[in-house]
Amino acid sequence: MARIVMKFGGTSMAGTERIRRVAGIVKRQQEAGHEVAVVVSAMAGETDRLVTFCREANALYDRAEYDVVVAAGEQITSGLLALHLQALGCKARSWLGWQLPVRTDDAHAAARIETIDSPALLASMAAGEIAVIPGFQGMDGDGRVTTLGRGGSDTSAVAVAAAVQADRCDIYTDVDGVYTTDPRIVAKARKLKYVTYEEMLELASVGSKVLQTRSVSLAMKEGVRVQVLSSFIDESAPPADSIPGTMIVSDEELDRILADSEEGQEMERQLITGIAADKNEAKVTLTRVPDRPGAVAAIFGPLAEANINVDMIIQNIAKDKGETDVTFTCPQADLARTQALLEERKDTIGYYRMIADSKVAKVSVVGVGMRSHAGVASTMFKALADRGINIQAISTSEIKVSVLIDSDEVELAVRVLHTAYELDAA
Ligand code: ADP
Ligand code: ASP
Ligand code: MG
Repeated sequence: MARIVMKFGGTSMAGTERIRRVAGIVKRQQEAGHEVAVVVSAMAGETDRLVTFCREANALYDRAEYDVVVAAGEQITSGLLALHLQALGCKARSWLGWQLPVRTDDAHAAARIETIDSPALLASMAAGEIAVIPGFQGMDGDGRVTTLGRGGSDTSAVAVAAAVQADRCDIYTDVDGVYTTDPRIVAKARKLKYVTYEEMLELASVGSKVLQTRSVSLAMKEGVRVQVLSSFIDESAPPADSIPGTMIVSDEELDRILADSEEGQEMERQLITGIAADKNEAKVTLTRVPDRPGAVAAIFGPLAEANINVDMIIQNIAKDKGETDVTFTCPQADLARTQALLEERKDTIGYYRMIADSKVAKVSVVGVGMRSHAGVASTMFKALADRGINIQAISTSEIKVSVLIDSDEVELAVRVLHTAYELDAA
């Protein structure tokens, strides 16, 4: 017997028929002799709908009230799944974030899970009851509802898996695993049988939304075994225990798999694991910022305090008169707040104009092989140049190169790079 946490995303939970199908998958997993807990997302499109209501109420909405609104989507699906499971003859009940509780910090709309009380969950699972937990939501120290940031149900699932020391955390979604790039953009994307935590972390952080970034870092830290697999399967599909999806593993485990198994001998570790795109970035340029110590701190300090994640930063060469232009990117969802904060501080910072542009996208190439191979970035620049795609900003890390381009060109760029790095399926 194993203890398994199963997570179902928005498309898998979108409506009565889909939830019925999910209930069937959960029931079969339990009948295979396992203890199961389920974490669910809101129905596809529901969180977007709720976010729009908040924006319409006030562009600079109070994030604590936003959390009250957007957490509602998962409350509905958790109750519905419990009802469907009961209809199939299973014992099941829902556990809302405040009931377990899932304790978080008070960073509303981007809260971090601190602890999850597991005794009640463990007792319910041991009694053969299926625990259904709404993802994405928690409770802060003051007892207020929090949410974990978009895509946060993945993190809820991994946190529950860590809390109950699950043998596996299966993330069911609308694709059957992690691919070399988004299979909806590139038809020739290849499914990966294994991805290391480190590579998945980097891919997620640059826009592969198949897993939320925090879920991967938490899984890595807690050693949770995560599988990504499809919920769009019929009863004759191989059981999840046979690992039909993609397994996220440690570097050492992957080395072992490659050395030990026959199939592993045929697989080599690739130079490039995958390519990701992120259309949710916005670019902000402040012109004629005084070129003196403290100027950059005056810009980014307030943004950090407001929990706004700044990504790429470029400071242009100082022109005469001791002034310089500073360009950076931030999430589009935070653009209005960013502009308001910088507008308020215009005199303190001393810039001349603020120019914002949301029509940008970041495309990134990720692979641990980069550590030992030169030329990855130049292949990228050349492939994009050959198609006339202009690069507006560049950033690199040990295992990643990212470029900022016009958002209209993002699909083309991903396809071109997928071919350039020889990732296309035969
Ligand atoms: P869920 O609602 O189940 O959480 P998401 O929409 O958040 O699902 O994530 C699944 C989607 O991630 C897929 O439909 C796919 O378009 C996208 N995706 C992006 N990059 C990848 C990748 N490298 N491999 C697989 N899917 C990817
Ligand atoms: N429903 C939330 C969202 O759309 C959380 C999730 O689906 O993971 O972001
Ligand atoms: Mg998701």
